[in-house]
This record gives sequence, C-alpha cells and structure tokens, in this order.
Amino acid sequence: MIDAADLRTRSDFSIDEMAEILGATRPDEIEEIRRAAENVLLENCGSEVYYRGLIEYSNICQCDCCYCGIRRSNKGVHRYELSVEQIVDAAKWCAQERYGSVVIQSGERRDKAFIKTIVEAVRLIKRETRSDALPQGLGITLSLGEQSLDSYRHFREAGAHRYLLRIETSDPSLFAQIHPNEQSFQSRLESLDALREAGFQVGTGVMIGLPGQTTRHLAGDIAFFKEKDIDMIGMGPFIPHEATPIGQTGYEIDRSTQVQRSLLMIAMTRLAMPDINIAATTALQALDPIGREKGLKYGANVIMPLLTPSEVRSDYLLYPGKPCLDESASQCRACLEARISSIGRTIGYDKWGDSRHALERAAPK
Ligand code: SAH
Repeated sequence: MIDAADLRTRSDFSIDEMAEILGATRPDEIEEIRRAAENVLLENCGSEVYYRGLIEYSNICQCDCCYCGIRRSNKGVHRYELSVEQIVDAAKWCAQERYGSVVIQSGERRDKAFIKTIVEAVRLIKRETRSDALPQGLGITLSLGEQSLDSYRHFREAGAHRYLLRIETSDPSLFAQIHPNEQSFQSRLESLDALREAGFQVGTGVMIGLPGQTTRHLAGDIAFFKEKDIDMIGMGPFIPHEATPIGQTGYEIDRSTQVQRSLLMIAMTRLAMPDINIAATTALQALDPIGREKGLKYGANVIMPLLTPSEVRSDYLLYPGKPCLDESASQCRACLEARISSIGRTIGYDKWGDSRHALERAAPK
C-alpha cells in the first residue's frame, strides 16, 4: 500500500498505484485514503460546498443507452417536458434561496425546437436572476448530452458557462458494451473537445460498478480526466434499472460495495486532481441514506439539490431508488443544510463556485 505521506503530497499516481488504492478493502487503509483526500480538498479548495440546483427539463430522449431508465425504447415511461416558464421559475427560486448556480439536465434531443427552448431559458435565467449578490445572474451548467459545436456555441453565447458530459467509461470496449452501435465512443470524445472549443468549463464522469468494470478501468478513467484537463467531475454508482438491457441480464449489485467503491473513486480523483470540483451525486444517496455526506467526506465539494417540480420528479428515473421524490425543493433545502453542517462544512451561498482549476486556466498565475 502507498505510504500515507505520499497520498497527501503526490498527485502524479501511476495507473497501477491508482488501481491499488481503488481496490483497498481494509478499514484502516480506507480511512487513511479518505483522510488524505479530505485534507487535499480542504487545502486546495477550502471547506465550502457549492450548490447547483438541478432542473430535469425533460425525459424525452433519442438515445438508447443500455443502462438508463429513460432510454428511448423504454415504453413504460411517461414522457414530459417542462415549459420555459417552469424552468425559469425553478431558477428564480434557486436564486432567492441564494444557491449560486443551476444545472439544466435533460434527455437528449438535437432538434431545432429543443435547442431554441434551452437558449431561451438560459437567456431568461441570466436576465431575471441578477441581483446585488449575483450581478451576472446565476451560474448555469448544462447537461444535455452530445450536441453539435454550433449548438454548444449558442448555449455558451446565451450565458451558460459549464457543461457536464459524462464519458461513462473511458475504455472504448466497455463503452461499446453499454451503448448501442449508433452511439460511439469517438463521437463522445469529439463532443468533449467541442465543448472546450465552444468555451465551456468542461465536466465529465463515469458510472462506477458497471458489469465487467475493474479497478484498472477506473484508474484509467482518472488518467483520462487528467489528460482531458477536466474542470469538474460528476460520477456515482451504477444502479441497474429493470427496464433496461443491463437490468434484464440479472446483473446485481451489492449496495455497500458499490458505495464504497464510488467513495474511493471520489477520493482517488481528488488526490490526483486537487483543484477541480467533484460532485457528491444523488445516485450515491440512492444507495445509502447518507451517501452524499460521505461523498463530501471523501473529497467532493459540490451537491446538486433537486429543483425539478414535484409532479414530474418520478418520471425522470434514470435508476431505481432515486431519493427525495416526494419532497418539495424547500424541504430539500432545510434537510441539506443540516446535513452539511453536521459534517463541519459550510455552504457557498450566492456563488457560482467554479473550480479553482477552471479559474486558473482562465487567468493563469
Ligand atoms: N442525456 C444527458 C443527461 C442525462 S443522463 C447526458 O447523456 O449527458 C445523466 C447521467 O446519468 C448519465 O451520464 C449516466 O452516467 C447516469 N445514469 C444513467 N443511468 C444510470 C444508472 N442506471 N445508474 C447510475 N447512473 C446512471
């Protein structure tokens, strides 16, 4: 096992070293890794946790990912689309509550009407959420899958400045196993490059615990994040959904193994990339009631409270067991604040909360 002092001072780990750390099973080793990651986070990013209010715009999707509950072929889903007004209202609530940023996420569509709606919503949010505390309005992250460079540019010009597009796995053959032929690894890579070209801060991430995925694959994922100079990461445990091809193979997960591996992945990513933003995702909480707090303790510094209107929350089911389905956004607020202070951290109210990594790229030291 790698020396504890090394864990805190180095960030240039080899694939072998990372795979070893990710495979840790002894409780004392795991605690050592966790403590090192938390320290690296506090030293490099401070103790603030940034909020991104999550608005799930629509579950209508052209893609057919073999793991995802809202895949095109799942005919059992009630499909919905929020209006621009509903999106903007959710964002205004977010600004009032002093959350500094929103994420607009959606099933994937590339038609003109879709692009136009997003551009309009982004423009309105930027205009209508300006205040003394947020002179440029809310920070906006988009998570709308693969789009053309032109569309990315339109979104950027409208005022969104961060974009999250998960690579899902950086191993091309594993990627091919979990996607239909028409969705290629190459095209995902090109989209990530296009996002950079359009001027976004770029986020990506992977699912943890996919069938056939090893700690070496996960170590390779972190090497990929570094190579792509990624600014922010959203990743969490894979949770099989019964109405999907992977769910139907009978692949089962062990919740606690899945959570532990995800937490180690957060910690290892923090150790390798000290100044990026890492989210403690909702999928973690789906498998463990205090999964997100644990994520923060393992080196994450971003949380995405759900703002989607209650009436459609249960239609945006990427995986089973999604938490907070029957709560309103304000109930989530009180609950989260208590959870974050319980672990000794503070909330970065009224801030966009860009990663130090992204800020230093924009204004090199
Ligand atoms: N269509 C957009 C955003 C919606 S999907 C996009 O593709 O970027 C958001 C993320 O949910 C996906 O990137 C995937 O990593 C995750 N996801 C989907 N199905 C999942 C499952 N069964 N378990 C865990 N995460 C899942």
